[in-house]
Amino acid sequence: MQKYGGTSVADPERIKNVAKRVVATAAAGHQVCVVVSAMGAMTDQLLELAGEVSTHPHPREQDMLLTAGERISSALLAMAVIELGRDAVSLTGSQAGIVTDERHGKARIVELRPQRVLDALDAGRIVIVAGFQGVSGTSNITTLGRGGSDTTAVAVAAGLEADVCEIYTDVDGVFTADPRVVPGARKLDAVTYEEMLELAASGAKVLALRSVEYARTHGVAVHVRSSFGEADGTWIVKEEDVLEQAIISGIASDSSEAKVTILGVPDKPGIAGRVFRPLADAGIHIDMIVQNVSAAGRSDISFTLPQSDLPAAEPVLDVIAKLVDAQGHTYESDIGKVSLIGAGMRSNPGVAADMFEALADAGINIEIISTSSIRISCVVHGADLERAVQILHERFELSSAAQ
Ligand code: ADP
Ligand code: ASP
Ligand code: MG
Repeated sequence: MQKYGGTSVADPERIKNVAKRVVATAAAGHQVCVVVSAMGAMTDQLLELAGEVSTHPHPREQDMLLTAGERISSALLAMAVIELGRDAVSLTGSQAGIVTDERHGKARIVELRPQRVLDALDAGRIVIVAGFQGVSGTSNITTLGRGGSDTTAVAVAAGLEADVCEIYTDVDGVFTADPRVVPGARKLDAVTYEEMLELAASGAKVLALRSVEYARTHGVAVHVRSSFGEADGTWIVKEEDVLEQAIISGIASDSSEAKVTILGVPDKPGIAGRVFRPLADAGIHIDMIVQNVSAAGRSDISFTLPQSDLPAAEPVLDVIAKLVDAQGHTYESDIGKVSLIGAGMRSNPGVAADMFEALADAGINIEIISTSSIRISCVVHGADLERAVQILHERFELSSAAQ
């Protein structure tokens, strides 16, 4: 199984290049199934188009629109492969048997029916599946969320029991930080599923979060590598297969969230439940939460949520403020979250203190903190985010392999 991201199929020349790689793999005696993303920034362009005809594009129609992007690249790649003298067929997600729930824009795969893909492979064809999409039980076309072609690739790899799921992208693998933010970031040879899950959940978009969850659950071997060279990239592995565990594997950052503060909430039992239940019922995903110390029987509750959920959250927040007799609410979009991730953190106390000190030394204020056993995240002012990543990368000496 091979997956090629948007940059790798951005123009006809690159598509022809991918066709060559695919044909070379087939010539080496492998059955090849390929998943492709839409060309370059096409998904963003289609979203913009939708925004020009509608203030709130209808979710079903938006999915119909967006899936066209992957349909185009898959058909073009099939043509390019056929041009090289190999038999190929492109399939939409629906044709490839990817069945999802009904949640347009963030559908989950509920079943895989790979028979058509298997038959085509057995007939000696190279199969090219349009990424990022599926079909619901009621025959509506759905999309799997941004970056969802990674999820398609891992799911189809699991369904086909493929030897490996190769994710070809525009960087050499998974790095200690986004190489665009930290030019000295180092490529990791291996990273555990757990660490990759935390990295993806904390904003390292090199792999979509769902794809990592799926790979871990189904035991799919994933290899992230560059589509522009032959070098080995990063293997996602089980924790027991790691020879030497670094304390810190990487740093991720995320500027897609917003912070909401509910002001002057009465400090009594049951309030937190009454604040968060309506948000949960509205399908809004809350990330970090802090409740400030109370003064005069009232306290502030702050939390983060995706900026894209703010329009849906606002009416709910008005209701909540009245319900719990709060003094109002504010929100701030200009925030960023920086996260330090590493399985070795479990056995090394002091990592959190080092992180907070490094941020303090750089004059960066921490607004919210949250942790898991292998991650520490801090919310900082948006303007400080890139600098926070850079100074932490330096503080934990992640550029050099010997930590
Ligand atoms: P594709 O189009 O191939 O799916 P993406 O743009 O979704 O590629 O993901 C690759 C990008 O992820 C890289 O160009 C890089 O800027 C970014 N990235 C963020 N964090 C990391 C990281 N830790 N390691 C590698 N790349 C990262
Ligand atoms: N084209 C989709 C996106 O831009 C899916 C993907 O590239 O994985 O999010
Ligand atoms: Mg991607």
